[in-house]
Amino acid sequence: MRRAVRPLVLTALAMCCGAAFAATASDQPQGKLPRWAMPESYQLAFKVDPKQQDFSGTTTIKLKLTQASDHIWLHGRELKVSKVTITDAKGKKHAGKYEDVAPKEGVVRVDLGGTLQPQELSVAIEYTAPLNQQLQGLYKVSHEGQPYAMTQMEPISARFAFPGFDEPSFKTPFDLTLTIPNDEVGIANTKQVKEEKAGDGWKTLTFAKTQPLPTYLVAFGVGPWDVVNGPTIPASEYRAQATDLRGIAAKGEGHRMQHVLSETPSIIKTLEDYYGFGYPFDKLDLLAAPDFSAGAMENPGLVTFRDWLLLLDKDSAAQYVRGSFNVTAHELAHQWTGDTVTMGWWDDLWLNEAFATWMQQKVTQKVHPEYRADLDRVRGAQGAMNGDSLVTTRKIRQPITGNGDIETAFDGITYQKGAAVLGMFEGYVTEPVFQKGMRAYIQDHKFGNATADDLVDSIAKAADKGNDFKEAFKSFLNQPGVPYVQTKLAQEGGKTVLHLSQSRYLPLGSTGDANHLWGVPVCVRYGTADGSKVSCELLNKAQGTMALPGATAQSWVMPNANGSGYYRFGMEKADLGNLGKQIGKLDDAEQLAYADAINASFKRGDIDAGTALAALKPLTGSKVREVATAPISTFNWIYNQLATTDAQRAKLVAWAKSSYLPELQRLGYKRKDGEPDGDSLQRATLGNFLGLDVKLPEVRAELLKQGDAVLKPNADGRLNFAAADSNLLSSALGVAVQQHGKPAVDALMAELPKTSDPAQRNAILAGLAQAEDPALAERVRDFSLDKQVKVGEMVALLMGNRDTQTGRDAMWKWSVTNYDKIVARTGSFAGGRLPGLMGGGGCSKAEADRLQEFFKTRAKEVTGAERGLAQNSEATLLCSALKAKQDPAAILR
Ligand SMILES: [Zn+2]
Repeated sequence: MRRAVRPLVLTALAMCCGAAFAATASDQPQGKLPRWAMPESYQLAFKVDPKQQDFSGTTTIKLKLTQASDHIWLHGRELKVSKVTITDAKGKKHAGKYEDVAPKEGVVRVDLGGTLQPQELSVAIEYTAPLNQQLQGLYKVSHEGQPYAMTQMEPISARFAFPGFDEPSFKTPFDLTLTIPNDEVGIANTKQVKEEKAGDGWKTLTFAKTQPLPTYLVAFGVGPWDVVNGPTIPASEYRAQATDLRGIAAKGEGHRMQHVLSETPSIIKTLEDYYGFGYPFDKLDLLAAPDFSAGAMENPGLVTFRDWLLLLDKDSAAQYVRGSFNVTAHELAHQWTGDTVTMGWWDDLWLNEAFATWMQQKVTQKVHPEYRADLDRVRGAQGAMNGDSLVTTRKIRQPITGNGDIETAFDGITYQKGAAVLGMFEGYVTEPVFQKGMRAYIQDHKFGNATADDLVDSIAKAADKGNDFKEAFKSFLNQPGVPYVQTKLAQEGGKTVLHLSQSRYLPLGSTGDANHLWGVPVCVRYGTADGSKVSCELLNKAQGTMALPGATAQSWVMPNANGSGYYRFGMEKADLGNLGKQIGKLDDAEQLAYADAINASFKRGDIDAGTALAALKPLTGSKVREVATAPISTFNWIYNQLATTDAQRAKLVAWAKSSYLPELQRLGYKRKDGEPDGDSLQRATLGNFLGLDVKLPEVRAELLKQGDAVLKPNADGRLNFAAADSNLLSSALGVAVQQHGKPAVDALMAELPKTSDPAQRNAILAGLAQAEDPALAERVRDFSLDKQVKVGEMVALLMGNRDTQTGRDAMWKWSVTNYDKIVARTGSFAGGRLPGLMGGGGCSKAEADRLQEFFKTRAKEVTGAERGLAQNSEATLLCSALKAKQDPAAILR
């Protein structure tokens, strides 16, 4: 109970109250805000000039008080509040008070000026705040010297921009006005409905009321933006009106958005057809942000992206064109899962992100089947399994114990594991049944919130499944880790059966407990007299047996049919050898599952390096890009961590050369007219692998020719980027930096501030990151702190030189020295990534120890760093354990 030391304001409403309702200092919420004050709508008024350092605002929240109180709890950070006015249900005004009680978390107490009985109130808060410099809340960026202000609220940065109930379950309509300089453009989630003069060179823009939204989806931008019209999205069976589509970009860049705008209507159509629910917002703008902390953000009606994802030309590298489509499809999928139906709390972030990832792959498969989103899903799942093999991994539904858990929830577990688990259960109940469940889920929770139980119930109902199914689904959501399914083929009673057992997959050196159970839908493909068959079974006990009708004692078995299961498998040596001989009979996704099984066995210490490389070798000849390159990550580990002698390295180089050089030579070093974009991507992958990882002289010579051509300035003194194949640009500049050293580094550093083209900037950064000379590498690291490098670009400069102990030691020393500057530049949102940025790629106990020692006191000070620290330390120790166990001599066998 708050023991008031100030005089009570005695009004009719300020009746004293029972102890249970009284305010106390100790009722400060530690997690969620209490539900006895519920927001019903917001009016947000901002006055923003991006040229200034601060902005001002008035936030008026209509809310319902359901218990008597003399205060409410809100979120707000770095807001300088000048006035709080409470208007009670009778229209009487009270002066309130705003107190920053937990500035770091952003929890504030608003004193209501006396105890108020349950009723509807309006709370108006006038304030000023800095335009954020760390890409959070309402932040400032510049492009070609001109400043812009824009927003990134997710997950918990709306509180930097306005005071409010900054949690996803508080969904209300928002009314927004922007008062901005006359010569600037303002955009927001909804259509502008009014423009009025506001005197002294200012104008006020009013935007239509939004659908109910959580605070993290509020978005707007102010600046000299280019606004270009895209094709209108025609009305559909599910949407009565056509929808306006526009591109927004920094001044001078708008014309480069036509490609992405032309793709957008077909994405929307695919999503509407799937969900049977029309795009529910009044317009759609795609905004290319000059600097951005995430890749993109699904704000309804105003989706924001890193500029390189939207600004495309006819010569753009294939990775940008595909990335643009995939990310656009992901963000637009969120308009349904995330925006129309929002997770109730951050522990269900997967309801937003796993679904958007899974749905993006579905959209891509439909609109661009040649992009092979089916294989992307398998590859994404395999990447997630690597992280999920750590004891320190998260669950898909990780309980939230603090703001750090919110910020570290945006990881491969939430996105890729989540998408893979959805795909696995979708395959189990069949696609049309899953779709029926999804349609019901959207209908039942539209414009509201939902939980994992709601989703699982919808799917189970559509599939007419009971508790076993629900428990199986939840066994993947509520516990961490990857199931390890071991199989053994046997003959019993004249029949061929497959014995199955499950445990948790743990790599060599893990301290984890393997004793875990899931409800795993195991699907197996096996050889029969006339081809192959698939058999499925829900394995929800430690052991199981599956009948394989038509199989014989000699049959081969692929324990993850279609690669659609989120599990790893291990098999008897003879069975694995047998499978290896049948690679050509497996589909592409199964070949990826085979590659993962080899990698998983190697990481467990079950097979040695020579055996792993021999088993992977047949895949390298695949005509399918994703399959052919699947062995590269295992190869790179062996090459960088295991090989110690020249003979071992020579053997590995020969392996890589015979596997991939013929294909790179077939593709050539320049894009051919009309070639499939998969060829362009393969050229980029192989050029980088052979030129920079394995360093084949013949490949480096070709890359250097292109790098030199870029570095030879044009008449205007600018670099000649068009002289390189756009897909090889980064590798070509990387080789040039390694071969020429200082002159190349000088030229690239001088060019960076002259170009605003994001693809060129990315290539410059990637090229610089390849510097090997210790003094130059140090200059590159220092350059990351230079204002000419955007905050969102820093990491690109700092991820190089991780393959050698010397490189990692130099990075470590530099980052310890510059730690405060790094934190100051990147802000708290990068906290979870900080330990990896400093010590990632480590492979010895000494590296794990120094990381622990350094962060012992610091991890608590930076949001999210504790989990990042635990995961990086564990990965470093596991690498060290594997290195100790695997015998490098096996490379030569
Ligand atoms: Zn997303």
